[in-house]
Amino acid sequence: MTSAGDTLRIGDIAARPGERVAGFVPAVERVDGTGLGFPVLVVNGARSGPVLVLDGGIHGDEQEGVIAVAEFARDLDPGALAGAVVAVPLMNVAAFEAMARGNPRDTHTHDMNRIYPGRADGYLTDRVAAVHAATVGAAADLEITVHSGGNICLLGETIFTTSGDARGLELAQAMGPDWTIVLDTPHPAGSPMAAMTRRSRPAITVELGGSAATLPDRLREMVDILKRAFGNVCRHYGMLGGEPAYAPKLWRGRQAVRMASRSGVLVPFPGGAETHFKRPIRRGQTLLRIHDLLGEPVEDLNAPCDGVLFGFRTHPSTTAGDWTLFCGEADFVEVPAPSPHRPGDAP
Ligand SMILES: [Zn+2]
Repeated sequence: MTSAGDTLRIGDIAARPGERVAGFVPAVERVDGTGLGFPVLVVNGARSGPVLVLDGGIHGDEQEGVIAVAEFARDLDPGALAGAVVAVPLMNVAAFEAMARGNPRDTHTHDMNRIYPGRADGYLTDRVAAVHAATVGAAADLEITVHSGGNICLLGETIFTTSGDARGLELAQAMGPDWTIVLDTPHPAGSPMAAMTRRSRPAITVELGGSAATLPDRLREMVDILKRAFGNVCRHYGMLGGEPAYAPKLWRGRQAVRMASRSGVLVPFPGGAETHFKRPIRRGQTLLRIHDLLGEPVEDLNAPCDGVLFGFRTHPSTTAGDWTLFCGEADFVEVPAPSPHRPGDAP
């Protein structure tokens, strides 16, 4: 929580109440002497309230959050805000430069979303994650980490919460009516959400988009959906004025992922995954198909459960062990709307 009159400091970035200050927090020295770290926008509200952390680009091939987190914080009026928004548009800068999930220079802690909060004396990505955790993570009352399908998959508006965390579910509902798939994670580990759960603070992991949806108009649509959700979260927690909106019904359950058992190329067919995207599915239904390189079918990828299809592989090149179908083993149920918080309330 921020108090009226307090300066909020993230690394060397200091924002007084009513100020927005942006900069970079260095973590590791590069070979050319520059710092490898991450960008931060600190928007400190004129009035006291919770600190909402928004993280993009923990995976370097997931661009939606990179744009949405920066734009949201850039356009936020600190004079209208109760509390603060700490925005990290891109957590893994080296992975983004390489257009890859992780930093290719780091073979030991390549995936930042498996090793967070890292170790200050650990491998390369460990060290970047540890600085994020010690500066940004330590300041958070609420944290939203934005993912997408990256180079290989397309994902619909889906939120992961920690199982049994009622305040995490409330944060998920605060994302608003576009976000109808909310899945429980029984044992979160290695992620910002897991680190927040250990501190008994609400956090969620949200998924939207992928490289199959980065044509300019489509990418703008994804970015705007995320920005709308961040605004709704701020209204729910009394950080911005106005009425929040909520989805009346949610898909509630757990993730069920289908991996490829065979290698080959995904071949499109009518009525496949795209037809059923974000819609109900039945166990056993064929959603993707793999052919070998001679054109012969080698594997039908079938829904592993009844529920909802929230994502699917879009990169045709497929190897045994690859992710192919992201399903929610879930029911579409009514969930009572949470009560909005008053300005200055704790989350
Ligand atoms: Zn990701």
